[in-house]
Amino acid sequence: MPETSPYRGRFAPSPTGPLHAGSLLAAFGSWLLARQAGGTWLVRVEDLDPPREVPGAAEAQLAALAAFGLHSDEPVLRQSERGAHYQAALDRLLADGLAFVCHCSRSDLATSGGIHRHCVARAPRPDPAVRLRVPDGSVIAFDDGLAGRIEQDVAREVGDFVLKRADGFWAYQLAVVVDDAEQGITDVVRGADLLDSTPRQILLQQALGLPTPGYLHLPLVLDEHGDKLSKSSAAMPVDASDPVPALRRAWQALGQDPAALPAVADVDSLLRAAAENFLPERLPAQPSVPLQRTT
Ligand code: GLU
Repeated sequence: MPETSPYRGRFAPSPTGPLHAGSLLAAFGSWLLARQAGGTWLVRVEDLDPPREVPGAAEAQLAALAAFGLHSDEPVLRQSERGAHYQAALDRLLADGLAFVCHCSRSDLATSGGIHRHCVARAPRPDPAVRLRVPDGSVIAFDDGLAGRIEQDVAREVGDFVLKRADGFWAYQLAVVVDDAEQGITDVVRGADLLDSTPRQILLQQALGLPTPGYLHLPLVLDEHGDKLSKSSAAMPVDASDPVPALRRAWQALGQDPAALPAVADVDSLLRAAAENFLPERLPAQPSVPLQRTT
């Protein structure tokens, strides 16, 4: 039998605000799946977009995760310190002719709905972006652990996508692919809002000759009106000073049986019971509205 690599999962928040119910769901869900597989669970700070970042948010998110008992099994990686690795990947793609420097502005691409198929820049810019060349017919399909078969025609639906932004910052798609590979991530578990990014990431893995991990996208947490909670919204930060009720709500939102957790428990015994009683087959494939109070 071929040997399979030991399970390595991760939670990779962007420090754009406090940890909210949706991020706790992704953190807890990815932690539960990693624990169940007897694997390793990592936390990575995705701080590569300074214009969207909130000062102190990364530390606050890490402190909140610690209060929830969710500790990275290895040192926390920070994307802001990894520019040389992204540059090396970009240089390879450029050298292989798989990426190109692009002077197109947003308004240049307005007539094609923002989708880039070839350069139409009317003037060179001092700060060009770098894009991945996505050949016609680049259809990517994968089996999501919850959502099932997903297929996207990346050329038609997304186009040549940005790897390095015109403002000089690294694009999430490149950084996440480089870091997932370098950290040996075998299983990406995250919110369903990133389902749409996954084909781009697989295409990039193929261009860089990197392995493709398994993907499982958890249902999004919706607010009481059924609307998606914005990731950077400070509206619903989870209360890290009282972690047990929030963990119980996340447990239920993950489709798990509330009775499987002990009635009164400190965080560590709650997590121990959760890891023992977690049933992945109960994960809901549909978005849920888990914000009813348990107290
Ligand atoms: N940093 C991304 C976010 O917070 C998540 C990246 C990922 O899990 O792939 O939206």
